[in-house]
Amino acid sequence: MSLSRRVAIVTGAAQGLGKAIALRLARDGFAMGLNDLPNKQDALDDVAQTITKNGGRAATFFGDVTKEKDVQALVDGTADALGGLHVMVANAGIAVPAPFLDESLASFDRVNNVSVTGTFLCYQHAARKMIAQGITDGRLIGASSVAGKQPFLGLTSYCAAKFAIRGITQAAALSLGPHGITANAYAPGLIDTAIINVEGMREHANLSLQNWADVVPLKRHGEPEEIASLVSFLASKESGYITGQTISIDGGGRMS
Ligand code: NAD
Repeated sequence: MSLSRRVAIVTGAAQGLGKAIALRLARDGFAMGLNDLPNKQDALDDVAQTITKNGGRAATFFGDVTKEKDVQALVDGTADALGGLHVMVANAGIAVPAPFLDESLASFDRVNNVSVTGTFLCYQHAARKMIAQGITDGRLIGASSVAGKQPFLGLTSYCAAKFAIRGITQAAALSLGPHGITANAYAPGLIDTAIINVEGMREHANLSLQNWADVVPLKRHGEPEEIASLVSFLASKESGYITGQTISIDGGGRMS
């Protein structure tokens, strides 16, 4: 197996969008550094095995993206094991639906820590590694949401976090452009994964796959592989003149 192939990291890669993105980037030819929480070990190992069985390369790193030492270990470990780092997909995120007047500070902080602090740490440590290794076409890719472009009832902390990812992505694009590193984010509408079935999503946010299909022009929910397809393009060399963008992929739910 060639050691000169490009290397990508995906956080939250054990399931859902992260898994679909990891499998797609591996198919595209990337060697994959895979992260998720320690309690997802079996699922993440399965993703790695699928990649290696299909002739790819993968290394797993269990850790919490809100902890700087875990992100540092992920970035250093991936670069050491797989021979570099070209793409960081800061995908991990959580949602805790609650009515605005009832949301606790602890839940607001937890949601923002995973998405906002996690994305900041992943972008910063990945960019430092890319610059140190002389990579001049690096890619930082974040997970925003349609909830990062418009408010949703019952998702205050989630909206705050997903709006913030657009800000971090734009700030990173501004700073890192001179190094040839781009920063972009994907903003999915409703995709069929575990996050949309968390407790309170129907009760407080009134969100379900069917509700979403009813209101968007394409009249269906999205699939993880469709998000992976956008990330595949953003990770590729062909996206090299796009930076600072958060691209909606939501069946037409948000048109501007
Ligand atoms: P998911 O719940 O299926 O997967 C999220 C993964 O992130 C899980 O494997 C989880 O263990 C991991 N994770 C959570 N906290 C972590 C932490 N601190 N450190 C490392 N890993 C952690 O959800 P998903 O739908 O696959 O979501 C992926 C991303 O896409 C999230 O950022 C989410 O906000 C975003 N998103 C999803 C949708 C959707 O409809 N599914 C829509 C818009 C945006």
